[in-house]
Amino acid sequence: MALFGAHMSAAGGCHNALREAQSRHCDTVQLFTKNANQWSARDFTSDEVRLFRDTLRDSGLRFATAHDSYLINLASPDPALYRRSLEAFTVEVQRAEQLGLSYLVMHPGALMGAAEEDGIARVVRALDDVHARCPGYGVQVLLETTAGQGTTLGWRFEQLAAILSRVAAPDRLGVCFDTCHVFAAGYALAPRKEYLATMAEFDRTVGLDKLRMFHINDSIKPLGSRVDRHAHIGRGQLGLEPFRLLVNDPRFEDRPMILETPKEEDDHDDMDAVNLEVLRGLLTGRRAAKKRG
Ligand SMILES: [Zn+2]
Repeated sequence: MALFGAHMSAAGGCHNALREAQSRHCDTVQLFTKNANQWSARDFTSDEVRLFRDTLRDSGLRFATAHDSYLINLASPDPALYRRSLEAFTVEVQRAEQLGLSYLVMHPGALMGAAEEDGIARVVRALDDVHARCPGYGVQVLLETTAGQGTTLGWRFEQLAAILSRVAAPDRLGVCFDTCHVFAAGYALAPRKEYLATMAEFDRTVGLDKLRMFHINDSIKPLGSRVDRHAHIGRGQLGLEPFRLLVNDPRFEDRPMILETPKEEDDHDDMDAVNLEVLRGLLTGRRAAKKRG
């Protein structure tokens, strides 16, 4: 059945994100293993690693996932920023591996005025470098679909396909499909015919076998706006139908689906709980029965 979860705060220690997820009856979780707006972080102590791994094991959460820092840009044409990004991303992969996480989601990068081909080549080189530096790791890096805001890469499925087809170790990579970003990038997700066409397009370019997880967000901005603004499930431009189609799609039954929506609203102080209830309420037939069972 569908695995639902949310991005949780790691304030006070990464294990707290697991406890937050557990207290909201999540099946899965995403967290930052360090401050997402800073380049560096002190190393984990062995006690922190042990506490996290013990908490994860006891939690029953599946596919625990990290998201990388917003500062990292592996497509940067600026050599200093590229090197800094490569070092920081290597540390992100190492931290995720230390904690025993399944996935590390990353944004492919931004062109900053460079040609698309050159940006893609830099991302490929960086991923090859990171893989070479981190041999035999269990954590898998997931390229996230983006809204195409500014000069960001990864909003066309072909760009993700180009990266995946050129890296030396494609088996070590997958894709995270963000519903808000894909929609803002111009791919419709409803009605059913349009949903199926978008998934067929993804399959033709990237391959559905590469689709490991979803970021499940509604969008404040319309189709093709290329602006990244997350909304609560069913309260944005996507509405409920794309989510109904997605959570009941048998092809994605065992894929983690992570909310990245605001935590609080004026009328309710736990919007994760509200959004999770909306998503579970969309499950039909056998899946709904399993949910109750
Ligand atoms: Zn996302």
